[in-house]
Amino acid sequence: MAAIQASDTHGSKVEREAFLESILRALIDPVFVLDRDGRYLDVFGAIERRAYDSPEYLIGKTLYDVMPSDAAEEFLAEIRRVLDTGEVWVGEYRLSAAQCVGNPQDGPDGEQWFLGRMAPLYSASGGAPQRVAWVVVNISERKRLEQALQRLANTDELTGMLNRRAFLAEAETALAGAQRDRAPQRLQFALIDLDHFKQVNDRYGHLVGDGVLKHVADALNQCLRRAVVGRIGGEEFAAYWIGVEQEVALEELDCAENLLRSHPFLLGKERIDMLFSAGLCAAELVDRHPTDLLRRADLLLYDAKDLGRARICRSAQVERRRSED
Ligand code: GH3
Ligand code: MG
Ligand code: MG
Repeated sequence: MAAIQASDTHGSKVEREAFLESILRALIDPVFVLDRDGRYLDVFGAIERRAYDSPEYLIGKTLYDVMPSDAAEEFLAEIRRVLDTGEVWVGEYRLSAAQCVGNPQDGPDGEQWFLGRMAPLYSASGGAPQRVAWVVVNISERKRLEQALQRLANTDELTGMLNRRAFLAEAETALAGAQRDRAPQRLQFALIDLDHFKQVNDRYGHLVGDGVLKHVADALNQCLRRAVVGRIGGEEFAAYWIGVEQEVALEELDCAENLLRSHPFLLGKERIDMLFSAGLCAAELVDRHPTDLLRRADLLLYDAKDLGRARICRSAQVERRRSED
């Protein structure tokens, strides 16, 4: 194999420029050159039609001519930041060909995810940079996998509900919001535990037990309409409501209990009655983490079990009961 000679690529200045340009034009991914006003001065590469539309239509246009104005505004701000600070910008964004005016739409269909990197272009004559090089990679496939993985990581396989980790993460955000608004009492939290569920497994086997769990999850989904619900343990569910009085949470839990009474799980001709006990409490100013709420709801849940199961205990009730003791 013949070695590449320096003279092959380092001939005259003109030859070398042509050579460098041929490399840029052969790039699979696009490189855009834009000025301070967001005008496309040049485009290179983007030869892979499965990932990009032909980009030549962009030349001479500004960001505002070709994309939605809110997106154009954001990109223009980044261009100016890159030029003023000399720092590189890296960001992920979504665009579909249909959103881009004048696009020949000969590339991929539908919304695409891109990773963009923007750096200032310094001219040989010196001075402050006036143009940026914006290098783009289509990362849609990676993004789809990422989203699929995230769905898997957040979902309870049996019921399709949020799993413990995802539920607690969402509850943490909700609690932080309620504390920021200094209105924790508007966040209601319930821990729900099936009554004598083990007997179902013992009598009918685990598969039937799984069916019963799904049946209860359906009832909760149907009735707890204003809540975020998750399966946080074997036969334990949790829910939280934002911006509602405790009466609303109580009504929705009652709805689920009544639905399970009127629609038991049916195994052939046999009916399996499955009810639950629950502890329901409001957040308080001292609560910092959802586990603070879990702990309080768990105490109330124990009270509900003690009192004979198939009931909902909430803070006020238990306090009343304790003061009567
Ligand atoms: P209690 O009213 O006091 O809550 O009684 P219980 O029988 O509901 O509670 P216990 O904690 O004794 O039993 C819970 C059972 O849930 C034990 C466990 O085998 C079962 N379980 C946990 N996860 C699953 C699951 O995914 N599928 C099935 N079929 N059973 C499960
Ligand atoms: Mg339990
Ligand atoms: Mg139980």
